[in-house]
Amino acid sequence: MKHERKSKRRNKTCDVKGCDEDKKQSVPVGKVSKKTDLEIEASGRNAYLCKKHWKKYKKATKEEREMRQLSWD
Ligand SMILES: [Zn+2]
Repeated sequence: MKHERKSKRRNKTCDVKGCDEDKKQSVPVGKVSKKTDLEIEASGRNAYLCKKHWKKYKKATKEEREMRQLSWD
């Protein structure tokens, strides 16, 4: 029973520390910790984010893109 519970948790929820929301999107762990202050608890290269944290991540990367465009223009 213990094993089953553990694997289910891993597969279904957000990898941000302390977050139990359903996963929404997978993202590279390195990128998340670089762009945001979220604490990721994933063992692999990819982390799963819930809707809320995915939005936060998207916002962080979007701001960077916009800044880059401005400086290139
Ligand atoms: Zn989350």
